[in-house]
Order: sequence, then structure tokens, then C-alpha cells
Amino acid sequence: MISIEKAYSIVLQNAYILGTEKVSFTDSLGRILAEDVKSDIEMPPFDKSSMDGYACRKQDLKNNLEIIEVIPAGKTPEKEIGKNQCANIMTGAPIPHGADCVVQVELTEADGKFVKVLEVPKKDNISYQGEDVKVGTKVLDRGLKIEAQHIAVFAAVGYTEVLVYKQPKVGIISTGDELVEPHHKPSISQIRNSNGYQLIAQVKACGAIANYIGIAEDTPEDTFAKVSKALSENDIVLLTGGVSMGTFDFVPQVLEQAGVKIDFDAIAVKPGKPTTFGMAGKIFCFGLPGNPVSSFIQFDLLVKPLIYTLMGQEYKALDIQMPMGVEYKRRSADRKAYFPVIITKGEIFPVDYHGSAHIHALSSAHGIISMEIGKESIKKGEIVHVRQI
Ligand code: AMP
Ligand code: MG
Repeated sequence: MISIEKAYSIVLQNAYILGTEKVSFTDSLGRILAEDVKSDIEMPPFDKSSMDGYACRKQDLKNNLEIIEVIPAGKTPEKEIGKNQCANIMTGAPIPHGADCVVQVELTEADGKFVKVLEVPKKDNISYQGEDVKVGTKVLDRGLKIEAQHIAVFAAVGYTEVLVYKQPKVGIISTGDELVEPHHKPSISQIRNSNGYQLIAQVKACGAIANYIGIAEDTPEDTFAKVSKALSENDIVLLTGGVSMGTFDFVPQVLEQAGVKIDFDAIAVKPGKPTTFGMAGKIFCFGLPGNPVSSFIQFDLLVKPLIYTLMGQEYKALDIQMPMGVEYKRRSADRKAYFPVIITKGEIFPVDYHGSAHIHALSSAHGIISMEIGKESIKKGEIVHVRQI
């Protein structure tokens, strides 16, 4: 049995970057950016008003000001502001020549042609040309995962075609004669296939492509057929179930038959001890445990960092350090343990968790915490590291 840290390094040692491709910026959400993005324009592109109000000269603020022009956003001012003059200006409109401040409308009283300033504004209310971004300024870094706010930046700097890393295709096979697909009502001795769909969602949340193969019967023949199909179509193959010690657990044996060179088949971790991993040439193959919590956590610890590495990003789970709100004890400490927790008022509490089949426990969890081999308890107040899930 190897440690989870060793398992992680074995998986990642085999990783490579899949390559890059151009996509429209509107299709880039959730992808990993493969180039630095630089601005081709200054932002703001001209001195513009940050308020609806009156553009004028600071030295005239005490006087009655004549309104000589109305400047909506998108219009170029036609007149220069002179002594005791102003322009009624809208947010985002260009500042007219001669003006050096904008008095917000709330601080004024206007009577059609003239306006009086009731209170001197605290700021100029002008966003100056280039104050946010100069031409050539790097606005986004290679390697980031593209979110909605990054799409706004692409739009602003005219990056309509974006270079992103290619997405791994991930084949997913559930195994087990007891499984039925979710739209069927399980009869006695059957259960619904929750892992398969959990894995599809986990893969998609990483920004990779999920390719669901189906449920393999607990026979070497059907498992082999589905594994062979999965290996021919994907960069990563995930199986769940069939990796324990039961008479019908064929996955490790079938993987070898299908040409997978097994690197490990047991990890000193709870949940997830029988997690199996190997390579078939350049294809990564995981036999994940059948219990949904084990499958979820092993995906998070091993598969997710791999997927991100293939997509050019060094994945680091968000690590929050906070004190434990209660004492937590465990009976045996021979494996590193992970369990789900919630964060309440700055403290960490384990969620009610009956073991690795208790998928409902993860639904309310904010993250997972770990206990090293040999550690039997966590004291109330002890600082723990929460891995966000
Ligand atoms: P196994 O490793 O195949 O013996 O599976 C361990 C446990 O996980 C058994 O109780 C299975 O019924 C359950 N299990 C296996 N596959 C799934 C699945 N796809 N969805 C939900 N539970 C599963
Ligand atoms: Mg099984």
C-alpha cells in the first residue's frame, strides 16, 4: 500500500499537456487560457465622466453655471467649457475640453439654462484615459480558468479568438450487476447508478469532456468490452466499483488484460483504499472505488489535478485554515482519513457521516479535512486545513 501523496506523484509524473486550440471567446467559459492577454487599447480610451452631472471648471464651482451642451454617452462634445459654463454630462460620456471636474447631479440645482452647485464634490468624477490599462498591458495571465469576468476582459480588449488548452476526453464506466440507471426504480437488491453521473459532473466541472460509456456487467467479458471501447476513445478512463476483493471484482484484472500497466492498486487512505491506477500507453486509467463518497474524494485528490495538468494548469485546491469547533476522534489511524465538514461562524464541524456509501453527507459539506496516519483525534480549537470541494 502506498501513501496518497505517493499516488498523487505517480499519477502526475505521467502527465503531459494535451496542446492548444483557438475558440471563440464566447465559447471559452471554463477553459484554461493558453496565452497572456494584452490590451490593444487604453482603458478608459478617453477621459470620461464617472457620474451623471455637470462638467465644469473647479474654479467656477461657487458661481451660477450656464449649461451650454448636453453630452450623452457615445457623443463627442462640440463645445469647450469656458468661464462659468458647464455641460450636462452622462456617465461614460467624454469630458469636454476646458472642464476639469464633474459635479454629480445630486449636488446641484438646475433651472433649465443654469445650474447652481450646492455642495463641492469630493472627487473630480473623471476616469482618465489609460488609468486602468495602457496599450500592451497584460490584462489576463496564461493558465487561468476562464470565468464570466474574464469574458468581459476579452470583449473589452477585442480578443474574439482565444487560445485555450485542449480538453481531455474522459471515458466513464460504472460497474456492477446491482446498478440501474437513475430513471429506473431499483427493485429489491438493486441501487441507482449515482457514481456515473457524479463523475460526469465532476469531469465537466473541471472543464473537461465527459464521455459516458455505461454500466458494465460484473463479468470479465463485458468489463473488457467497455474498457476497450473507452481506451479507444479517451485520454482518461474512469471506472467505478469492482476494485475491491470480492469474487465479482474484475476491474484490475481486466485493465491488465486490456494493456494497462498497473502502477498501484491500494492506497493507505480512507475512503478509497482499493483505488487502482495505471497507464495504457498515454491513456490514464483509474479504477475508483464503488462507494460514491470514496469515488468523489479520490476523483478530487487524484483525477482532478491530473485533468488540470493536461489542460496546462497546475491545480491547487483552495486550502482554508480554521479552528475545529468540536473534538473529533477516530478508532483506527492506520490510513490517512478524509471526511466532509462544514464551516460555521469561523469554525469547522464534521458533517453527520456514516461512511463512504453516505453520499448525502457530501451534499451539505463545504469541504473535506484530513487526518494523517497515526493521528487519532483533533482537539477542539486545533487549526485544520479545509480542502474546498
Ligand atoms: P464494489 O467495489 O463494486 O464492491 O462496490 C462497493 C459499493 O459501492 C457497493 O455497495 C456497490 O453497490 C456500490 N456502488 C458501486 N458502483 C456504484 C455506483 N455506480 N453508484 C452507486 N453505488 C455504487
Ligand atoms: Mg461491484
